[in-house]
Amino acid sequence: MEDVDQLSTISPTPPGEATPGRPAARLLPSLRPLTKDFWTGGEHGELRVHRCRACGRFFHPPAPICVRCQSFDVAPEAVSGRGTIAAFTVNHQPWLPKFPPPYVVALVEIEEEPGVRLPSNIIGCPHSEVEIGMRVEVVFEQWEDVWLPLFRPEAAR
Ligand SMILES: [Zn+2]
Repeated sequence: MEDVDQLSTISPTPPGEATPGRPAARLLPSLRPLTKDFWTGGEHGELRVHRCRACGRFFHPPAPICVRCQSFDVAPEAVSGRGTIAAFTVNHQPWLPKFPPPYVVALVEIEEEPGVRLPSNIIGCPHSEVEIGMRVEVVFEQWEDVWLPLFRPEAAR
């Protein structure tokens, strides 16, 4: 997730666009050159994670240099959008008036790279059913020019 100071925009729900389970508002990240692909890939149905072309490893958050081999040959790349829940908690604290608790905050490990974990929310199932190791898939929730990558239980394949 981005730095807290980047999560500064509260976006009201556009009239007629409220959907079940969708909060009335969310904190949105600022789009920067380095993070834009991650936050907007959902427009094309893609979860885009930075990958190093030298060593082949994915990493997150996006950075201009590979955290493992220090190569500058890095770029965002679409991944499957599937992963597993590595850790989670159910938040009960009402931090935002228009984003009422409870909700699940989780670290989702992407299928392509063990150890690469994305902070996100788990939606689409009762909180009591969320567990570590649960397989999930990405679903995008659009707010203005941001497509937030959220995760839900993986559909049967
Ligand atoms: Zn590398």
